[in-house]
Amino acid sequence: MNSFEYKRAEQEQAAIEAIVGGKDAKFLAGGTNLIDLMKNGVQTPSRLVDINRVPLTNIERTPDGGLRLGALARNSDTANHPLVRKNYPLLSQAILSGASPQLRNLATNGGNLLQRTRCSYFMDPDFPKCNKRSPGTGCGAREGVHRRHAIFGASEQCIAVHPSDMAVALVALGASVRVRGQKGERMIPIAEFHRLPGTTPQLDTNLQPDELILSIDLPPSPYAAHHHYLKIRDRASYDFALVSVAAALEMQSGSIKSARIALGGVAHKPWRAEKAEALLAGKQPNATAFEAAATEALNGAQPLQQNAYKVELARRAIVRALVLAGGVA
Ligand code: SF4
Repeated sequence: MNSFEYKRAEQEQAAIEAIVGGKDAKFLAGGTNLIDLMKNGVQTPSRLVDINRVPLTNIERTPDGGLRLGALARNSDTANHPLVRKNYPLLSQAILSGASPQLRNLATNGGNLLQRTRCSYFMDPDFPKCNKRSPGTGCGAREGVHRRHAIFGASEQCIAVHPSDMAVALVALGASVRVRGQKGERMIPIAEFHRLPGTTPQLDTNLQPDELILSIDLPPSPYAAHHHYLKIRDRASYDFALVSVAAALEMQSGSIKSARIALGGVAHKPWRAEKAEALLAGKQPNATAFEAAATEALNGAQPLQQNAYKVELARRAIVRALVLAGGVA
């Protein structure tokens, strides 16, 4: 591991001031991903600003009836919080499908959003071709092993997928990320928080280097009664998603009033299927409607040779998740 400067901040403003000026300086919270990346040399920040004592662990109601999740609340505490379990069970289910209990006890909500791709070429600093780790060097995965990679939104420069389960549910639920930097505070809709790779695959998010995540804010949700997070992975015990689906239905008099569908494991960011959602509005919750929505959701997929299986896998996973969300066959 490279040497680095360590600073500890106890308040938001001190943390923001401490991060400025350090080359590739990073905030340190749970460290479940960052420390791994530093140990194997993928990331070499010159400075870490420890924010574990900054008071951002609260989970509390917002005046509009939504919920504010502190950026430093641990994933376990968030998933098991009574208000999350009652009003946003889709989020609870998604968080609990990720990582292991030990990791969830340490990982924070803000850190979950900032975790980096597990593309094996990215994770190996001795491998010479990775545009995300070393811009301009090429993409080893595109010509190499890409069974786990993107079928939507990829670029010539990068075909990696985002690894978070939590973020997929947050996209389905329409969350926003509250951040603060030297220029002040702003809200970023979660759908705009993560980026597609384009020509700058080294950037995962639209967060500025000096910006600290303060909270993740959830609007009131009509989706608590009918939801399901389905995660398909090679190992059921502990693995990242090959494909995941966050599905939620708002029912009215036996029909679907509105729907939310977001996919994980298929793109550089959680992938919301808005046209498929629109197809379900006003329909009866049955196999015909779910099949049509799933087919629409996979329109435009651009798989490569080794990951073409994801198209059919995702289509079937959407149908299954909607069936389980709707409680119908
Ligand atoms: Fe690097 Fe992205 Fe290519 Fe993986 S897919 S090797 S992260 S550029």
